[in-house]
Amino acid sequence: MMDKIEKFKLIITKNIKPLHSVIDSLTNEQKEYYYSFISRNYNQEEELTLLESKFHPNLQLPKQFRRLKKMNRKPKYIILHDTNCLSHRDESLSVINSRNTLGPIKINQILIEKRKEINYHFIVDKIGKDFEIISARPLQYICEFPEIRSDIGKQALHVLIASDLSINVPDKRFYDVLAYKLLAPMINVLQMPKNPKSTIIGHKDVLNKTIWDRIKEIFIKRPEQFRNLEQCPGSFLFFPLLHSTVQKYM
Ligand SMILES: [Zn+2]
Repeated sequence: MMDKIEKFKLIITKNIKPLHSVIDSLTNEQKEYYYSFISRNYNQEEELTLLESKFHPNLQLPKQFRRLKKMNRKPKYIILHDTNCLSHRDESLSVINSRNTLGPIKINQILIEKRKEINYHFIVDKIGKDFEIISARPLQYICEFPEIRSDIGKQALHVLIASDLSINVPDKRFYDVLAYKLLAPMINVLQMPKNPKSTIIGHKDVLNKTIWDRIKEIFIKRPEQFRNLEQCPGSFLFFPLLHSTVQKYM
C-alpha cells in the first residue's frame, strides 16, 4: 500500500497547476489529508523541498476577490512585524536569504492560518541581492490583530519584514530601502503624522496586555500555533536608525 507521502507526491506531481486549482481538484478526503500534511509534516526536509519546488511561486489569490473589512479612519501608524509574528512551522521563514519568501508566507497565512488574504499590507523581502517591497493586503482593508490596542489597530498599516530579526542583523541597505521605498512615501502621501518616532512602531510595543495574556493561554494548549509576539519584531531591528533614515527621505 502506498504510504501517505507517496500518495501526496502523486497528487501534486500530477497537478502542476497553481496551488488553489490543485486543492480545488482534490476529493474531500485528499483535501483533509493535504491540510494535515501541511500542518504536521511541514518541517521534514524532503516534504519542504517538494513543497518549495511545486507550490511556493504559484499560490494564487482566489479568482473572486472577497472584500475585507474597510479601514474607516485615516491611517496614523505603521506597525512593523517580522517572522516571529507567524506560526513557525516553516524554517524557510526564519532566515533572511536570497530566496523569495513570499511563497512560504502565503502558505503560512492562507493555508495554515486559514486567512482570506495575507494579514499584512506590505512585505519586505530580500530577492536576489536587494530588498524589495511587495504589496500584499490592499491598503483600504484593515489587517486583523485582535491583540493590538484597539485605538492603534484601527488606524494602522502593517509591514512584515521577511526575516527573524531576533537572529538576523539587518544591514544599512535594508534601512535605506525600507525608508526610501515605503515608509517615507506613505507618511508623505497619506499625510500621516510627520514624526517617524510616533508613527513607525513595533508590534510588541502595542500589545493589549489583557488580550495577549489570554491568547498565550490558548497557545499553551496548542503550542504548534505559538507566535512569539513579544519578540515581533526581533530586537535587531534598530528603531532609532530606522526613524532617522525615514526622516532623511521625507
Ligand atoms: Zn507582528
